[in-house]
Amino acid sequence: MKAIVGSDGKVSFEVEGESEAELFKQIARVQEIFDHNKCGKCGCEKTKYVCRIDKDENDWLEVVCQDCRAKVIFGRAKKGGVIYPKIRWDQLSEKQQDQRANEQTYAEKHYGYLPHNGWFNYQREN
Ligand SMILES: [Zn+2]
Repeated sequence: MKAIVGSDGKVSFEVEGESEAELFKQIARVQEIFDHNKCGKCGCEKTKYVCRIDKDENDWLEVVCQDCRAKVIFGRAKKGGVIYPKIRWDQLSEKQQDQRANEQTYAEKHYGYLPHNGWFNYQREN
């Protein structure tokens, strides 16, 4: 897999496969992981890939809307280390479920999927 990043921030991909099935899998991966070019909250197309490192040296991958600052966050599978966007309630950690408790009712009514395709704004604590 190969990514081409334009100076305008637009990203495109090249995939290669020996068979149709292999190509299919590669395309599916690209679409699942990288097709977040539009904010699920406000529809803005200015999104940015961000990697942060917390105090425990874990890296956090997220795509952030440059307009409303909503984000979609990524998890990492224990097996194989593949990453995936957290778009379902059961993909959130306990702490994240606490922070996003207001999304639970929606998810329960929508087969476990989070509102706005997983995009959310951190609630400011009052
Ligand atoms: Zn937005």
